[in-house]
Amino acid sequence: MKIILSLIIFIFGISVGSFLNCVIYRLENKQSFLRGRSFCPKCHHILKWHDLIPILSYIFLKGKCRYCRKRISLQYPLVEIATGILFVLIFNFQFSIFNEFSIWTLRGVAFDDNNFQNLINLGYLSIISCFLILIFVYDLKHYIIPDKIIYPAIAGALIFNFQFSIFNEFSIFNFQKFFLYPLLTGTGAGGFFFLLWLVSHGKWMGLGDAKLAFFMGLSLGFPHILVSLFLAFLIGAIIGLGLVVSEKKSLKSQLPFGPFLVVGTFIGLFWGQEIINWYLSFI
Ligand SMILES: [Zn+2]
Repeated sequence: MKIILSLIIFIFGISVGSFLNCVIYRLENKQSFLRGRSFCPKCHHILKWHDLIPILSYIFLKGKCRYCRKRISLQYPLVEIATGILFVLIFNFQFSIFNEFSIWTLRGVAFDDNNFQNLINLGYLSIISCFLILIFVYDLKHYIIPDKIIYPAIAGALIFNFQFSIFNEFSIFNFQKFFLYPLLTGTGAGGFFFLLWLVSHGKWMGLGDAKLAFFMGLSLGFPHILVSLFLAFLIGAIIGLGLVVSEKKSLKSQLPFGPFLVVGTFIGLFWGQEIINWYLSFI
């Protein structure tokens, strides 16, 4: 049952991934992304339904447009697969949630008896994953995190935290724990990146990274944000060094930091508590 359900979620995920590709394209070209039909970005031929099946169309068309035979970017199938995998992961985490490592139990609440809140959590995690995927791809390609992506993400996280804090009943304790502390965490993380941006005149970090760090604090809370930031810097350093050694980039060339923050966020969301427990076992 779990496998069939996971498969359905995966198919749903790759369809959402297909939509995310479309959002990215329309952000790049400053078009509204709620209107208009899909077309080939190279020859602008309107695509038929059988050109638009996630992953499969790419395989059957051998990565080329049916009409102009130009290459379809690998971004399309990769984003689709990544979204599918993330949705399956979220689904499995949310419903195995009742295990001790879940991000929600670690926030001190168990929701096993509350299906409505489970559904909200599931929806929220899926939506912020979409925002994070958009940020990953856009920053990687264009070295910028658009306000059109990061501001709605921040607003969503604030609203979610607020409803989370008052869901059962309003108490100052819950409000502090689920709304105020994540807000402080976000302010701290965002402030840290803002300082890096200020001191380096935008050379080490962009202002978008500061906004993303603020969002990370809101959705991860403390101390998980530390795990995510540490991993982002670690992975960034390893890949940066790899690129310099393989001479794909020079020491002076820039590397967008957003993708590393996104990867760190996902690891923190899924395995943050396990990593913290593992780390604490050494002390
Ligand atoms: Zn074409």
